[in-house]
Amino acid sequence: MNPKTLLVIFAHPDDESHGPAGTLAKYAAEGVRVHYLCATRGESGVVDSRFLANGGSVAELRTAELDRAAAALGLASVSFLGYRDSGMAGSPDNAHPHSLCAAPLNEVAGKIAEHIRRLRPDAIITHDQYGWYGHPDHIKCYAATLRAYELLYGIRAGDPEAYAPSAPRLYVSTFSKAMLKLAVRVMPLFGLDPRRHGQNQDIDLAEIASWSIPTTACIQVRAYLPAKDRAKAAHASQTPLTQTKRPWLRAIMRRMETAEAFNRLYPPVAPGEAVERTLFGAAPQPVWNPAIHELPYPV
Ligand SMILES: [Zn+2]
Repeated sequence: MNPKTLLVIFAHPDDESHGPAGTLAKYAAEGVRVHYLCATRGESGVVDSRFLANGGSVAELRTAELDRAAAALGLASVSFLGYRDSGMAGSPDNAHPHSLCAAPLNEVAGKIAEHIRRLRPDAIITHDQYGWYGHPDHIKCYAATLRAYELLYGIRAGDPEAYAPSAPRLYVSTFSKAMLKLAVRVMPLFGLDPRRHGQNQDIDLAEIASWSIPTTACIQVRAYLPAKDRAKAAHASQTPLTQTKRPWLRAIMRRMETAEAFNRLYPPVAPGEAVERTLFGAAPQPVWNPAIHELPYPV
């Protein structure tokens, strides 16, 4: 049997490691060819000058970090779309002529479609429609991947009527908002403002907690957290949003990492369909129903 192929399309070097890295490591360990298609080289990331002491650029530094992270996760390849990191919403980098933000949607989609044709994946993962926390490059990746489905298969992925048997399964990477909602409630008790989170205090956790995306696939990755930790450590120049000195908040974040959540856009999710435990569409696990089990058997 041919090994499965998973294509991951994200915006920046580190999205693969700070995102669903457990799932990527798990599938790579199981023999799936996991390819990473990265839209930019993270040029707008905030980098401490000590990381650039050898005179290299931010793009070179972050590309090297991604190579090390890819090795830690067991990825089969890393490719780039060649755009420039647009920075956070409203930053001057949004308007840079080479930014992913400024690129025409059909052009980005066309490049993504070429990689899909080349790699022939069984499943694809991209960002969710909110860009995890509203990053414009993440949102552009989502929109361009959907447009690539229109170009390649003539379908609008996510449309309940969409039907194209040759199209790979398409998932967006998301995360359960339940723990985040809890963190948002608890943070003010410790003098923290959930509406001003992150290095630049420009992340509104309360708003992000309100962006609800149903989890239609959940992958248990506790056994792969060491690989995820090594991959995150490879991106030494980047401070993840989940990083915190507060032990209780760290415990919540760690708990969130043990299971990775996805929403399937193609094929459309059937009403009442059980949450998947795989991204490759194996037969769903039988669900033990206590109501049935407790009924007395007829004599
Ligand atoms: Zn990113």
